[in-house]
Amino acid sequence: MTTVTLSGLTKSYAQTLAIDAVDLEIREGELLVIVGPSGCGKSTALRLIAGLEKPDRGQIHFGERCVDTVPARHRDVAMVFQDYALYPHMSVRDNLGFGLRMRGERREQVRRRVAEVAEALGLDSLLDRKPAELSGGEQQRVAVGRAIVRQPAVFLLDEPLSNLDAQLREGLRVELVRLHRRLQTTMIHVTHDQTEAMMMGQRVAVMRGGRIEQVGPPLELFQRPANRFVAGFLGTPPMNFLSAQIDGEACQSDGFRWPLRTPGTSDGPVEVGVRPSAFRLVASPKESAASESAASETLRLDVEVVQPLGARVLLQCRGPGGQPLGVECPAAGAPAAGDTLTAEVDPRQVHVFDPATGRRLETVRDGDEI
Ligand code: ADP
Repeated sequence: MTTVTLSGLTKSYAQTLAIDAVDLEIREGELLVIVGPSGCGKSTALRLIAGLEKPDRGQIHFGERCVDTVPARHRDVAMVFQDYALYPHMSVRDNLGFGLRMRGERREQVRRRVAEVAEALGLDSLLDRKPAELSGGEQQRVAVGRAIVRQPAVFLLDEPLSNLDAQLREGLRVELVRLHRRLQTTMIHVTHDQTEAMMMGQRVAVMRGGRIEQVGPPLELFQRPANRFVAGFLGTPPMNFLSAQIDGEACQSDGFRWPLRTPGTSDGPVEVGVRPSAFRLVASPKESAASESAASETLRLDVEVVQPLGARVLLQCRGPGGQPLGVECPAAGAPAAGDTLTAEVDPRQVHVFDPATGRRLETVRDGDEI
């Protein structure tokens, strides 16, 4: 268990700047998820931490110790990859114990550790099987077990679930979180799947183009995305973006009008983000006027497509200016394709971004103290 600190970490491959001056602290005992689109540098970051690659610039510290010159095998790090290569001729028991035996641990110690790990991962009944006799999910659990059996100071997971089918993936996400709670080891999990990142991470670091866009607890990133990229990347169904105008007292966009201002920036064009879940369907404009959150004006939307999500549905609509808008509402009593509905959006759930830089702009509502 240790803190991992990256400072000014930079790595290029030929023409590609894979990691661009990254500063990041992974706290002692934390489960941090690095998420971002394919090619953004996630695996490179992990490989640098593991010592499998050398940085061009910058440092990595484990606790107080700079590990820049420490070879991978002495870093006390265990890594699990997407393609877990188990030894096919060995039983699960021998696969789990192999690293410990190579390290010269006593037989009794190996037996005890293998039993502990098998119990933690629910592999007890599979110990005598060979990898070919296991399902994909079971094989991946053995790969995880083989990594944790050594009790590393830092545990690195590089897309370990992406080869599994959706149902197994869900189950293993929960298992990994449970395992982390039990082990309390510093864990860094890499994925391109934002749902997985939100579900697993105590904190999530969103990467793009070799840089970290934002780090924080998942709900903080969801509720207060630092920029348009993070806002659009996290959340399912995705956020709607609209061009809008701030005119001193309100933010307006084709039929929308919210009593919002952006102090500290001059009036002008902005980009507005509204999550599908931020819409509230109202029976009639009259009901809206009576409701507490009726700080925005209601608008009429034409429903084009209805997509069931389960207990909720996603309505693909056209807004007053013909703009496409995703709107989420409870499945019970949901409108049908071809219906017109009246909806409103609470101004507190409206995100405003600088259209040039994509940065989040802080907003205040009428009546709020600045
Ligand atoms: P991710 O894990 O987010 O998909 P990677 O860290 O694997 O991204 O890659 C980051 C960038 O560096 C990509 O543009 C990739 O093509 C490039 N890259 C990674 N490894 C190598 C390599 N060994 N040689 C050349 N380019 C590489």
